[in-house]
Amino acid sequence: MINNIQDTVTLNNGVKMPGFGLGVYKVEDGDTVVQSVKAALKHGYRSIDTASFYDNETGVGRGIKESGVPREELFVTSKVWNDQQGYENTLKAFDESLDKLGLEYLDLYLIHWPVKDKYKETWRALEKLYDEGKVRAIGVSNFHVHHLQDLMADSNVKPVIDQVEYHPHLTQTEVKAFCEKENIQLEAWSPLKKGRILDDPTISGLAEKYGKSPAQVILRWGVQNNVVLIPKSVNEHRIVENADIFDFALTDEEMKQISGLNKNERTGTNPDSFDE
Ligand code: NDP
Repeated sequence: MINNIQDTVTLNNGVKMPGFGLGVYKVEDGDTVVQSVKAALKHGYRSIDTASFYDNETGVGRGIKESGVPREELFVTSKVWNDQQGYENTLKAFDESLDKLGLEYLDLYLIHWPVKDKYKETWRALEKLYDEGKVRAIGVSNFHVHHLQDLMADSNVKPVIDQVEYHPHLTQTEVKAFCEKENIQLEAWSPLKKGRILDDPTISGLAEKYGKSPAQVILRWGVQNNVVLIPKSVNEHRIVENADIFDFALTDEEMKQISGLNKNERTGTNPDSFDE
């Protein structure tokens, strides 16, 4: 379990990744994303999660540069979008992302969604980028167990990460158990359920007990479950608040109470039925 904002988890290829970072989905390109990234880096974040689909890689790159934090201290993730999949298209999409970000390499590149009949070819492109040293680690997002099994049966490099929707209303027990067995790190998207779970009475009760906010209780639960977290905020005070979760601990009983809120409820689409 990580013990501070810069603490790392070791991925299955030996690369160390911060267990906590900033997400930037729906953050507008330009000053908004530049300020979010700079605020996060100023307050100790070292990991940023973007994607070509978010259309803000240029601003993320600017924020990184203006922060003055040395590149080697940072962990930058991007993702190949659905209409960029396939072998050649993915290689091209990667170069475009790198170019927009103004970086020489990525730390992590993910397949954003398992586009049927394409994700294996996409993966071969990721393997090539990895072999060439253009990216330090490669992984997937929104893969169910059957997608992971299918990919792993037919590839050379194992994904280091599966980034899936994960919060107390969607605890992903099946994917989590499979990933633990296979040494694939689980990473949570929408770890705060996009702010739609903050008024749950169990969570607010615990928040009151510990003198923390509901968001902090939820994120602490994620940390204690060894899941990598990338909460999004454009507000500096919430960026600080979300990372201020290393001075208290939930008991085993409280962890179970929060996990017991699971309803297998998604804010996003099911990876078996998304619109390709
Ligand atoms: P989150 O669960 O991180 O919630 C973000 C929302 O919660 C925002 O509206 C934010 O508002 C609000 N919020 C943040 N902190 C607090 C707080 N302390 N108290 C109250 N409200 C708060 O949702 P996301 O969907 O953004 O997920 C996080 C990241 O995961 C994304 O940004 C993206 O990087 C990644 N992601 C990946 C997906 C994938 O398919 N791989 C899909 C979706 C997300 P405000 O900004 O105004 O503070």
